[in-house]
Amino acid sequence: MSPPLKSWLGQANEPDCDFPIQNLPYGVFGRDAESPRCGAAIGDAVVDLAVLEAEEVLDAGGSAPVFGRPALNDFMALGPPAWSAVRARLTELLAAGGDPRLERDAALRGRALVPRRDVRLALPFSVAGYTDFYACRQHAFNVGTMFRGPDNALPPNWLHIPIGYNGRASTVVVSGTDVRRPLGQTKPPGADGPRFGPSRRLDIELEVGAVVGASNPMGRPVSVAEADEMIFGYVLLNDWSARDIQAWEYQPLGPFQAKAFATSISPWVVPKAALEPFRVATPDRERPLLPYLHEPGPMLYDIELEVDMRPEGADAATTIARTNYRHMYYSSAQQLAHHAVGGCRMNVGDLLGSGTVSGPERGQFGSLLELSWGGRDPITLDTGETRSFVEDGDTMTLRGWARGDGHRIGFGACTGKVLPAPTLPG
Ligand code: MN
Repeated sequence: MSPPLKSWLGQANEPDCDFPIQNLPYGVFGRDAESPRCGAAIGDAVVDLAVLEAEEVLDAGGSAPVFGRPALNDFMALGPPAWSAVRARLTELLAAGGDPRLERDAALRGRALVPRRDVRLALPFSVAGYTDFYACRQHAFNVGTMFRGPDNALPPNWLHIPIGYNGRASTVVVSGTDVRRPLGQTKPPGADGPRFGPSRRLDIELEVGAVVGASNPMGRPVSVAEADEMIFGYVLLNDWSARDIQAWEYQPLGPFQAKAFATSISPWVVPKAALEPFRVATPDRERPLLPYLHEPGPMLYDIELEVDMRPEGADAATTIARTNYRHMYYSSAQQLAHHAVGGCRMNVGDLLGSGTVSGPERGQFGSLLELSWGGRDPITLDTGETRSFVEDGDTMTLRGWARGDGHRIGFGACTGKVLPAPTLPG
């Protein structure tokens, strides 16, 4: 047994640090007037990858520099061998007892290591397309039970297809971005016709997003194994949802306005390589899947997930749900293979939402719709306030980490505050 890998950056070795040397997630950051560029998080610092690349300490292997860009896409487009090489080189530069080039050169260190508190984090990649799935059995069962009863909870295709819809890339925003309550049509139960106005059932969905880092040609299917290789990394994802708008609009083509107003993601993309030790298998299949969806190995991950809710002015947030990504029925690799199998071209920068992650117990549900059971059983926050859905001024925060031996692979926070609905122009 080799001793656990440590960094010469002491703070990175704290057991509750989200960004130990085993993680090295990628993001895009800026300081002051500086143009945004790619970085990697370690401890309480951000490594400026553009500086290391310009100083020829780090080489992604492409024909042109990739890290001075305001998005990870150019780096991702170099493909899995470049992802491995850059990760190995960064590990070498940041490990205690590794290559001392950065550790010993105070001038370089001063330019290449930036305190995380001094940076603005931007959307880490340019989102080419956003697709969201409905792939957790407990979530599908809960929602189906509320609307159709427990005997008809799962639609007939559910155990055979990772059900998804094409969402909007244009309103994917980085953590910390405020979210406006959407306007739209709703039809209250028993009403003769629809009304127009702010959503009254605004919700979150706790999800994990897979970031696609490689493309397939149009018309060329990919296997589940190939799909797994195409995934660059994972983020936390809050698929904000207006339940009342969705209930009125969703048949027969699925959600439209109800999920197009905002999708928040965490600012750091955790590389798939950092999650390798945490792979777990999808659960036993209740019906055999068609062969194109067979997994060659474990494709889910043991990632603990939490949802915090903080009303405006409250001193502290209340943790309203704790669950685990392993509760998914379909993996992101299966979703990607299914997406491409009909001929769809997938692009570098595509984002696939896992679908709401809900565990078997009530405190493990990944949406307020489920936690409050459609508003029937409001939850009580530590402030004494109750909630069935998200109210104006509430801040919702997702957190996640995989627990290693003496360290954890953290995702950082995915947070967003809800602002009142806009007024209609003229
Ligand atoms: Mn969703």
